[in-house]
Amino acid sequence: MTRSWWGWGQAENAVPDDQCVQLASLLPGLPERPVPVPGAYLPPVRVVPPDALAPICTSLPGERASHTYGKAYRDVVRALRGDLQNAPDIVAYPRSEADVVDVLDWAGYANVAVIPYGGGTSVVGGVEHRGENPSLSLDLSNLDNVLDIDPISRSARIQAGVLGPDLEDQLRPHGYTLRHFPQSFEFSTLGGWLATRSSGHYATMHTHIDDFVESMRVVTPIGINESWRLPGSGAGPSPDRLFLGSEGTLGVITEAWMRVQERPNYRASTAIMFHSFRDGVRATRAIVQSGLTPANLRLLDAGEARFSGTAQNGETVLVLGFESAHIPVEVELADAVEIARSHGGREQDRDRGDSVERWRTTFLRMPYLRDALARMSVIIETFETATTWDRVDDLVATLHEELNKAVREVCDSPGIVNCRFTHVYPDGAAPYFTVIAPGRRGSEVEMWDEIKAAAAEVLHRHRATITHHHAVGRDHMPWYDEQRPEPFAAALVATKRALDPYGILNPGVLLWD
Ligand SMILES: Cc1cc2nc3c(=O)[nH]c(=O)nc-3n(C[C@H](O)[C@H](O)[C@H](O)COP(=O)(O)OP(=O)(O)OC[C@H]3O[C@@H](n4cnc5c(N)ncnc54)[C@H](O)[C@@H]3O)c2cc1C
Repeated sequence: MTRSWWGWGQAENAVPDDQCVQLASLLPGLPERPVPVPGAYLPPVRVVPPDALAPICTSLPGERASHTYGKAYRDVVRALRGDLQNAPDIVAYPRSEADVVDVLDWAGYANVAVIPYGGGTSVVGGVEHRGENPSLSLDLSNLDNVLDIDPISRSARIQAGVLGPDLEDQLRPHGYTLRHFPQSFEFSTLGGWLATRSSGHYATMHTHIDDFVESMRVVTPIGINESWRLPGSGAGPSPDRLFLGSEGTLGVITEAWMRVQERPNYRASTAIMFHSFRDGVRATRAIVQSGLTPANLRLLDAGEARFSGTAQNGETVLVLGFESAHIPVEVELADAVEIARSHGGREQDRDRGDSVERWRTTFLRMPYLRDALARMSVIIETFETATTWDRVDDLVATLHEELNKAVREVCDSPGIVNCRFTHVYPDGAAPYFTVIAPGRRGSEVEMWDEIKAAAAEVLHRHRATITHHHAVGRDHMPWYDEQRPEPFAAALVATKRALDPYGILNPGVLLWD
């Protein structure tokens, strides 16, 4: 299998040309072909590593091209057209933590920006250097081992560059799992999850990767920061919390002790249908406030349900699931179904096929479909947020209204705006929107940026976060800058100066360059 250099996942799994046309059957034209391996489109290399680093560095065109962008819609469109003006000059593959230290030492001296790179699945411009100075993409994929297991405390010491499936393969023989399954699981890394505070498959309770961290080891330009392994600690502000979500700006995470779990043996799931989204919202809130903690509690509006093949009749669907290593979970499922019923829900007739499975399959295939539609000049992108329950209805309704308006204005045509809740809490929810609209070939990135700006303005007005789990990167900076309190911003600036005195680490992320 070959990793696609411009799009999602494995090149062999990409949607074939004839199916691209079928997918966008209402649109004229043929699917755009990605430029071939893009040597001709790359800017000249501006810096050469010293001899001591040469064995771990490359400036081969394919490597520079595949490390230019993350995997947002705007990244995919620019890459497939060969717009690679922000390509890194060098890609480095450290073999050890000592190599990471050496790279940072040299980069500080040579004024080279260092962009930590895990799986490169950032959707917020997190791995794209946009500054003037030369840059080095620090690819951590060689640091990919589970180094130690402590079965007594049930935790594991894991290197940051390990991809999700490889991590699970190494834990499985010990009977453990990290059970952190973001949609990007197959192609993203532990280090990337920690650096972006990613959210996994749990819809309730342990949602963010933060909940599984026991301690972290981070190489900063002024030294190595390693926290003690502790199950909890009240000793001042948490050193781990400083680096969780730091998005490669304060240091390079090389390893972490993570809390692992026993593999689930019991599972039960179902789908509940509602005539209205509002009823679905009430039921979801009631379930999560009841003390039940479903692993899956995903509310899909009618459009999202249709798109995922879960329901075609205009109904809202609640995908509901429980898991446990030790106890059967049928009783919990029955309790949750009962709550949903009391809010107008109707359990799916299980004989009619498995909506839950259909939802999961589409969910995993979606990034490939996204690339296929991008090749047909369709604008297709997502964004996510979170807010408290008292503001959810208003926020979702306003976003629907203003996004539809923005799409009509920008695209001169109506589009599709779907919403689902990816994660829910006793005090609020994380709505996740998908926008699909006809783009004009050559202008799609600017068109999407305009639509996204309209959405971000609504979020800001409603004091809903600019991101629940996609992180800040470069793309969310204007709104993140408005969201964070001033004294906190001042502390972050001071922290950055203290840890990264030459300002080489991922400039332009979390703080203006
Ligand atoms: C199709 C798709 C689905 C997605 N689904 C989810 C989802 O379900 N949940 C979710 O939370 N996110 C999701 N994302 C976003 C993305 O996968 C996450 O942000 C993920 O955590 C990034 O991991 P990565 O290894 O690819 O990191 P990268 O993209 O390589 O890097 C992300 C950021 O972290 C920094 N970084 C990476 N590794 C390190 C390190 N070792 N030390 C310091 N900094 C580092 C980078 O510099 C960058 O700023 C999705 C993205 C796509 C394209």
